[in-house]
Amino acid sequence: MPHDPVYLDHAATAPLRPLALTAVTEQLARGGNPSSLHRPGRAARAVVEQAREDVAAALGADPVEVVFTSGGTEADNLAVQGLYRHRRGADPRRRRILVSSVEHAAVADTVEWLAAHEGAEAVWLPVDATGRVDPETVRAELAREPEAVALLAVMWANNEVGTVQPVAELAALADGFGVPFHCDAVQALGSVPVDAHLPGLTTLAVSGHKVGGPVGAGALVAGRTAGLEPVQHGGGQERRLRSGTLDAAALAGFGVAAGEAVAEREHEAARLAALRDRLVAGVRRIVPGAVLRGPEDREHAGTRLPGNAHFTFPGCEGDSLLFLLDGAGIASSTGSACHAGVPRPSSVLLAMGLDEATARGAQRFSLGRTSTDADVDALLAVLPAVHERALRAGLSGAA
Ligand code: PLP
Repeated sequence: MPHDPVYLDHAATAPLRPLALTAVTEQLARGGNPSSLHRPGRAARAVVEQAREDVAAALGADPVEVVFTSGGTEADNLAVQGLYRHRRGADPRRRRILVSSVEHAAVADTVEWLAAHEGAEAVWLPVDATGRVDPETVRAELAREPEAVALLAVMWANNEVGTVQPVAELAALADGFGVPFHCDAVQALGSVPVDAHLPGLTTLAVSGHKVGGPVGAGALVAGRTAGLEPVQHGGGQERRLRSGTLDAAALAGFGVAAGEAVAEREHEAARLAALRDRLVAGVRRIVPGAVLRGPEDREHAGTRLPGNAHFTFPGCEGDSLLFLLDGAGIASSTGSACHAGVPRPSSVLLAMGLDEATARGAQRFSLGRTSTDADVDALLAVLPAVHERALRAGLSGAA
């Protein structure tokens, strides 16, 4: 490969920010267990508490509300399992989990596990063709049997098609029915304004590596009144909600990255939305049959993540496109996980009403801090040949 790949997969993981790298390596070199009482321990504790303040400030939360985890997946598990067990423990009638049908697997699979093993009833909330949950549907489900609802879980923004959900309305609804509301804000942080103190919001999950921090650091924001059972037991760290020695180095990087991402958010969102619009227009010009999935975001009104462009390419297999693009020096994604090497249509696209064949032609291009006009130009330059080859390979996937 003559050049570094053009990285159009920021939604999978964002490049590490230089200041985050410095913070991580400095703390790695210092060491120390933040729970130890001697000087090295207290120094590591100070690093962790600084990170807690930085993450809290980025989310509009109080530092005491920030429960550090190993990432978004763990934060989602703690919220969904923890809220469910607490609510059900207090009243065994509370079995229903109202959950959007476009959640990341970190939430969706956790709900399915609770349904299979702990008597939960999963109520999958439908979405419209753009991937948006209608608050009226949620109101109706809450009103149907309010005493039987354990929790509501709807993500802030979707990782595949970039749809931003009406979170404030949903939180207010949950509040009105006295139901806890968990929101996965892993893709939203640094891209759209995120407010952990939104009235009615109970827990909020975020992840460091999506904002330019290291992999292995995340947080669940949970107010003091959030009733949560711990998932991981042990030394009682993090208000007894998440036992385990804290990774001060990773958390230092997370704090720095979260602070930077939020400080530059407004400016970056405008820049990326313009870049994204150019990418979308270019793809449509080259492949007129390609269909943008998720909201159009014409007015940049915040209905779609600014760095997200997601298409389906009729007659193409998403994996063929991915590997052909990779061969041409472009890193993109089909947008959904592939289970054991078997390409499956995305459950998000199926929930949006697509048929399986159409959904299999998915390709997500996600932009971020390091993205430039030249990246978009590089994609558009290789797309005609890549698309033609993917079409020839067809849905057999033999690119
Ligand atoms: N939730 C969403 C919406 C995501 O996009 C991701 C990562 O792709 C996760 C949760 C999981 O986060 P992590 O990779 O930090 O475990």
